[in-house]
Amino acid sequence: MGNITKIDETQNLLAKFWQRSELTAGKEFPALSDGLRFFPGTSEEVVVSSSPADGTALGKIRLASVADYSAMVETARSAFDFWKNVPAPRRGEIVRQIGDAFRKHKVELGALVSLEMGKIYQEGLGEVQEIIDVCDFAVGLSRQLYGLTMTSERPEHRLYEQWHPLGVVGIISAFNFPVAVWSWNAMIAAVCGNVSIWKPSEKTPLCAVACMNIVHEVFAANDLPAGIMTLAAGNAEVGKAMAADERVGLVSATGSTRMGRSVAQAVAARFGKSLLELGGNNAVILTPSANLDLALQAVTFAAVGTCGQRCTTTRRLIVHRSLIEEVERRLVDIYSQISKRIGHPLNPDTLVGPLIDSAAVEQMQAALRSVVEEGGQILFGGQKHESLGGNYVVPAIVRASNDMPTVQKETFAPILYLMPYDTLDEAIAYNNAVPQGLSSAVFTNDLRESERFLSASGSDCGIANVNIGTSGAEIGGAFGGEKETGGGRESGSDAWKAYMRRQTVTVNYGSTLTLAQGVKFE
Ligand code: NAD
Repeated sequence: MGNITKIDETQNLLAKFWQRSELTAGKEFPALSDGLRFFPGTSEEVVVSSSPADGTALGKIRLASVADYSAMVETARSAFDFWKNVPAPRRGEIVRQIGDAFRKHKVELGALVSLEMGKIYQEGLGEVQEIIDVCDFAVGLSRQLYGLTMTSERPEHRLYEQWHPLGVVGIISAFNFPVAVWSWNAMIAAVCGNVSIWKPSEKTPLCAVACMNIVHEVFAANDLPAGIMTLAAGNAEVGKAMAADERVGLVSATGSTRMGRSVAQAVAARFGKSLLELGGNNAVILTPSANLDLALQAVTFAAVGTCGQRCTTTRRLIVHRSLIEEVERRLVDIYSQISKRIGHPLNPDTLVGPLIDSAAVEQMQAALRSVVEEGGQILFGGQKHESLGGNYVVPAIVRASNDMPTVQKETFAPILYLMPYDTLDEAIAYNNAVPQGLSSAVFTNDLRESERFLSASGSDCGIANVNIGTSGAEIGGAFGGEKETGGGRESGSDAWKAYMRRQTVTVNYGSTLTLAQGVKFE
């Protein structure tokens, strides 16, 4: 079968990442040589990473302990003393080479993402492309990092601001974007002059090791010290240690709101900085003037893509009452076509892969049971995919109302809640009436409607789109959301400022002391 050949090929390519030919499914990932100090992993805990697609054991990995992590911070701190003094454009040159290294490994890393996380191969490739894109963006940024110059109220004075790196940046990432989210943080942090330590999800450690091997090739070729980008592939205890660690200037944490709440409190207690990218509960508003073909295609991709496991997945579809029956009918038809394309993520015909694990399947079933108890009606799907077994599910469409407790929560699975509205104000109120505030979209050809949605009385989310779905952001914009999504912004625009400290400078180039606000002290 095509799938199996692909898996074999990927195993061979994986072996290349590890530079070891003995890596085969189920073998313990061998200890790395001393030169690769980013990955000591000496804890008692050995994790087998299995593909959610079919349970194949991809490799074993000995997790990093809190003590391993702590030693890495020391290595990282000495690397910082060196790295912060490298001119930013030179740091950008290293990141340019990292981007090229990922270009070289795009196909095999994309396949590994697909195998270990379960997203379809096209989306696996897309994730690696995000790394490449963010590297390019960071290279340009390395010649910018602008500070403003202000006019001073005092004669013969200059007033300006400059930006300095923070030091060690801790990166905690979620399973669903096992490589891209790290790169958003690590590449921007690096051109800003920081060093970074990555605590990936325990569910996708091999992707993290592969990335580290790729960047390590570049660091080694440039004779750079260990510790500029390191990996602490440990469990949540390592994440907690990072949050509480005064040596870590910024903790950038991506994951559930529950995790973010814990990290935010620990970091705030020591007056550190945190950047939080947490759960979403994203809605699309479908107005009467919308191009329905376009809208339904976009909604379907955003609702079932990555099997509903994106933070930006469309979870709520708010439809004008005049359209609701047509939309229900057409979506059920589209979903029944899609349900024939559920399967192994490396199979090119597949549109929907598996959920990450059996617990995620159970959570989806539990959410469906609750929403039905609350009065919701399942219009399509929701069941386990019996013939495929494992973690495969049929994406669900549910008629529900916005205030149902289950609709208010993020269930990390492909459930789309449909609800009617009568006025645009009501639709916008539904969009905003959830605890999360990540992504949102309106489909309309009426300028008044789109502008209202984008106005201060419109969507309260970090991302507001018109005539495109809620997922699939480009790296050039700042990414993140409000309320329980955590308020962080990553990736493009001026998100780099979160990785630096601002210093306001006043220089007196005269020979008299003039005080601000005209204060006299003579
Ligand atoms: P999770 O919260 O279970 O785990 C995320 C990471 O946090 C893992 O590395 C985990 O080990 C670590 N962790 C868990 N508890 C911790 C603690 N108390 N202190 C420090 N670290 C801790 O999330 P998940 O299941 O891997 O991912 C799914 C969630 O992530 C969803 O809620 C999704 O919306 C969210 N997510 C958000 C974004 C975004 O940009 N807003 C992007 C991707 C995923």
